[in-house]
Amino acid sequence: MIPDDEFIQTKNVPGPTKEEVRCLVMCKANISSQDTVVDVGCGSGGLTLESAQRALNVIAFDKNPEAIDLTRKNLEKHGLTSKVQLLEGDALQVLEGINSFDVILVGGSSGDLPLIIKQGYEKLKENGRIVITSILLETRVEAVNAIKNIGLVPDVIEVTIAKGKITERGTMMMGRNPITIISAVKV
Ligand code: SAH
Repeated sequence: MIPDDEFIQTKNVPGPTKEEVRCLVMCKANISSQDTVVDVGCGSGGLTLESAQRALNVIAFDKNPEAIDLTRKNLEKHGLTSKVQLLEGDALQVLEGINSFDVILVGGSSGDLPLIIKQGYEKLKENGRIVITSILLETRVEAVNAIKNIGLVPDVIEVTIAKGKITERGTMMMGRNPITIISAVKV
């Protein structure tokens, strides 16, 4: 895993997904060296970079041009540009132009989550994995329902990481926001 502070960050772009959460997303995504991974809403590139270290190739996109720039910079910093195709655009439009893939990660949807999941599922190969990372209460429910609607059984976990901050008095545990990870395997 790449440490959080090894990512270039800007205030206009969310992410990177924290290291320990990236770890769980990668666990659920179960990426092999022959896989093609699609990263919907790449943000700072947190999940794009982790995927690029594991997969054959990655297609990452974001509707925010600043996110594309930042993800490119982070890929360059870690020498991972060659495996990744970066596209600026809205999820539903970009997905339409992509063929099949083994894994789809969804980190941003702007209200289109049910359609993104439906469209993503159609292009997902057999045994392919869908992994949605959600910080909003509404998105969690939407994701669970959307997975059920395509006939799959969602795996749902919620994690709240507390990270130790080393101070002179001792190690202070600093709580972070709860994150829900909803995933499914295409049968
Ligand atoms: N996983 C990223 C953080 C994602 S933040 C990381 O680890 O760095 C969510 C991102 O999704 C934002 O950058 C936002 O611009 C993007 N996004 C939201 N809705 C989108 C949509 N419909 N199409 C494309 N990108 C979208």
